[in-house]
Amino acid sequence: MQQVTILGATGSIGVSTLDVLARHPDKYTVYALTAHSKVDELAAQCVQFRPQRAVVGSADAARRLEALLRQREVPCAVSWGEAALCEVAAEADTVMAAIVGAAGLAPTLAAARAGRKILLANKEALVLSGQLFMDLVARHGAVLLPIDSEHNAIFQSLPLAYGRSPAAAGVAKIVLTASGGPFLKRAVDTLESVTPQEACKHPNWSMGRKISVDSATMMNKGLEVIEAHWLFGAPAAQIEVLIHPQSVIHSMVSYVDGSVLAQLGNPDMRTPIAHALAFPERIDSGVAQLDLAGMAALQFEQPDLARFPCLALAFDALRAGGTAPALLNAANEVAVEAFLQRQIGFRDIDRVVKTVMDENAHGAADSIDAVLAQDGVARTAAAAIVARLAGARR
Ligand code: NAD
Ligand code: MG
Repeated sequence: MQQVTILGATGSIGVSTLDVLARHPDKYTVYALTAHSKVDELAAQCVQFRPQRAVVGSADAARRLEALLRQREVPCAVSWGEAALCEVAAEADTVMAAIVGAAGLAPTLAAARAGRKILLANKEALVLSGQLFMDLVARHGAVLLPIDSEHNAIFQSLPLAYGRSPAAAGVAKIVLTASGGPFLKRAVDTLESVTPQEACKHPNWSMGRKISVDSATMMNKGLEVIEAHWLFGAPAAQIEVLIHPQSVIHSMVSYVDGSVLAQLGNPDMRTPIAHALAFPERIDSGVAQLDLAGMAALQFEQPDLARFPCLALAFDALRAGGTAPALLNAANEVAVEAFLQRQIGFRDIDRVVKTVMDENAHGAADSIDAVLAQDGVARTAAAAIVARLAGARR
């Protein structure tokens, strides 16, 4: 029996993970479930999956969850806050890291320090502190399996004993596919006025709101380029982004002999989740088999960086190195939240990120404290720009 903690159980990835676990009660038990504020949803999950521990974001949420679980006579130790998240991440065999944003960093690092099997959905942790995180994983013998569909596809397309050296494995290029999101074909000059609702309407995937907006700006792909750099040891020059609107090929690896290996499947996160949970075995994920004959066509095109400036900004941050990706990520989190709150426009997101990157020096990412300090500086700077832009709109 594998004991699993799900960080971010009430989110899109968390719910998909529980769906896969429920199909295999003989293999997995739920050790802990966590949520920030959706207490009712978390209580219902606790009733169904009977975790030993549950963690929420505040004392008030913890009191409400305790009351709900007492009513239903569900025994479960409830706690709240970052320290408790770190405990439950360190205590289980396997940790699904599916909290959104930089909030996921501390518990994901705690799982690495405890040498756990980490199923990594939270890409922000690697973007913020890639070197430190990969070092912790190696030092403590943790097992890191990518959940992000592109990185899971690349993982599946690389040799089993891949040692994070493209040259040693004969890898010429890592090709990340991208759907292009909801605005791939929309006239660029109309992007100023798109609404959060339009931005969150992804053509192929159903996801949380932050990553949906990131997909519309293609910052998501930019964060994934940085994620791929750390996971697979490839420099920016060996990572390519290719638009593939159907999201059937989840990513590819090009080898020096001309071979291209890819992983295909229906766009459903339960496939990479099941792959990582059972690795190196295979289990049923509940996802339908791919119907290739029923598919009209698979298309590919180069991304247009004028339409998607966030993608270029992310490549810049990766090339700059150090804490530049932490600046990028924090500015983006603040800008996306402000867009979702309708304080700024869609195109203001790339403006905020670019201004924060231009106006703030980055340093060495040699400690978690340095990374978090840079994250804080970027959030303050981004909030000031947001306030200015929001003021100008009123
Ligand atoms: P979501 O918004 O649906 O869920 C986020 C979860 O994190 C929720 O359970 C929420 O309670 C928790 N959370 C939010 N803020 C928190 C905080 N401050 N402290 C503690 N917990 C907090 O997001 P999602 O779409 O499930 O994405 C989760 C992560 O997985 C993100 O990093 C995203 O980039 C990554 N990811 C998601 C998908 C997808 O298909 N949804 C695909 C690839 C990668
Ligand atoms: Mg992805």
